[in-house]
Amino acid sequence: MRRLLPLAGILAASCAHPSSRATPASPITAAELKHRVEIIADDSMGGRLPGSRGNIEVTDYIASEFKRLGLQPAGDSGGYLQYVPMISSRLDTTEHLTVNGAALPFWTGLVPQNPGNVAQTFDPAGVPVVYGGRLGPDRAAMISADSAAGKIVVFAVALLSDGRPDVRSGRYVPAFTRPAAALVFVYPELPPVTIYTHLTRFSVPSPTHAAPLSFQIGAATAQTLFGDPLERLSVGATARGTLGGRVRYLTPDSIQARNVVAILPGSDPARKGEYVAMGAHNDHLGIGAFGLDHDSVRAYNILLARQHLDGPAAGNPGARSPAIVVNVDSLRRIRPPRRDSIFNGADDDGAGTASLLAIAHALTKQHPARSILFVSHTGEEQGLLGSRWYAEHATVPRDSIVTYLNMDLFGHEYTGDPARSGPRYLQSGGARRLSKELGALIDSVNAALPEPMAIDYSWDAPGHPSQKYCRSDHASYARYGIPVAYFSTGYGVDYHQVTDEPQYLDYAHMARAATLVYAVALRVANLEHRPLVDQPKPDPTAPCRQ
Ligand SMILES: [Zn+2]
Repeated sequence: MRRLLPLAGILAASCAHPSSRATPASPITAAELKHRVEIIADDSMGGRLPGSRGNIEVTDYIASEFKRLGLQPAGDSGGYLQYVPMISSRLDTTEHLTVNGAALPFWTGLVPQNPGNVAQTFDPAGVPVVYGGRLGPDRAAMISADSAAGKIVVFAVALLSDGRPDVRSGRYVPAFTRPAAALVFVYPELPPVTIYTHLTRFSVPSPTHAAPLSFQIGAATAQTLFGDPLERLSVGATARGTLGGRVRYLTPDSIQARNVVAILPGSDPARKGEYVAMGAHNDHLGIGAFGLDHDSVRAYNILLARQHLDGPAAGNPGARSPAIVVNVDSLRRIRPPRRDSIFNGADDDGAGTASLLAIAHALTKQHPARSILFVSHTGEEQGLLGSRWYAEHATVPRDSIVTYLNMDLFGHEYTGDPARSGPRYLQSGGARRLSKELGALIDSVNAALPEPMAIDYSWDAPGHPSQKYCRSDHASYARYGIPVAYFSTGYGVDYHQVTDEPQYLDYAHMARAATLVYAVALRVANLEHRPLVDQPKPDPTAPCRQ
């Protein structure tokens, strides 16, 4: 028996006029999807980090497939690519922060998170440090907007029901703390393994997006800073100690981040100026700083998923102490350790990307009345950067996009939870938030399929802690009042792990799910009128609300 190192936590009956023809049998096959995923998520793509050679290669592949299918280019300057002016910046590890004058070394004293702001240097001198409360669903117990503004706000992380820290506590940070100078997340202890995303950050100039610098510290450091354990502080308490030093990101590099955009022109002259858009993301997390044993990681996460069915099985720093011990001996009898550091992103979002191409392939045979707009987004993992850029710089008139359909995490086979798995399982959401008609249309199209999906709408509930409505590219379109729907097989055991590889996907399941998205796109494209927006449109500059 050997205890495993845990992984660090790293960080979607209407008045509709039916189509004149019945939904055809699906032309989308598991074989085509598998072939495409194996290209997109191959080790040679190196995890497809924006600007990396692998991401350039995969976006070239998508563009060449759009061209081969006869789609019209709809990127910049008559090509298929839309360049996103992204910058990436690496942390200067020669600088550090101090607490009461003592250095907080990176990784052992402080773990920087992936911030989305554009400031290059963070110098805490003179910035008040306040306690913001313990993160969790009960936001009433957290600091108010006025008290947080301009300050360094320290949050205790949320705890799971067994007392272990919730690695996804960031989802509970109130949107109103964005004007804070920095956010600090306090874990009982820092994760023993860190992942590359902490070193590099990505951003895109945007009028609607600015997130503060954020980092993790351990409880002992927080106690030194405040003079008391956090449990004894009241929300809004000011630190007695001093936070000094600075965090600096090296001069940013401009990188070649690319959306890939194509159009299948509509067949009806009166409606071809309107677009049914659909998309997936072409980027993923790149290559990690640490090689982990692939088989142990997967065995660990399957056990973790069985124990914590409420959410993804991202590695949990708190798991170091008690619970999970895997019998590695049985794995070792099969084969020796296999070091792996490539985040292949087969499910996330190779599956969505393969489906986008397969659906494009299928739709070219259907002559839909409206045009179809295919958008492969970059920079989703870095904060929806590519979709945000597209929505703000759409290459067709934004108001002519009648619906956007998103596919992300679209083909894994096992979630750890029988109630959230199975050959017909599919999560969807978003549609009824702007257009009840679109929501009803999805249900009626699904019911008419030869193999209808069992659609789980529970993740779409307002306030749902997963924040799924705000966490993938559809949110960038919904922001502008475009009716959206997301489709996902959910968080699997390989979510954001080096084990998210093609051999673990269920291609028959993926084909059924892609068939639904295909049929919905076709139905919307052939509607007499665009889906009715019958709910209030959001303020595009406001933070997304689950
Ligand atoms: Zn994704």
